Amino acid sequence: MKKIKVDFDLCESNAMCEALAPSHFQIDDDDYLQVLDENVTDEDLAVVEQAVASCPKSALSIVDA
Ligand code: SF4
Repeated sequence: MKKIKVDFDLCESNAMCEALAPSHFQIDDDDYLQVLDENVTDEDLAVVEQAVASCPKSALSIVDA
């Protein structure tokens, strides 16, 4: 199973990932990124990869769990 990894020291909560993959990422009311679902299924992989590639801070990665 692949999982989403976030470097919260780099994340600036600009919601790019939420826009692309709202099933996995959400900016909360306090402006912090929440990972709604860290698991990446084969079905989700393409959209999560897009979100990872679109993060302007390079804060996201997909790792093998
Ligand atoms: S796209 Fe990157 S910087 Fe923006 S909220 Fe998501 S993880 Fe954070």
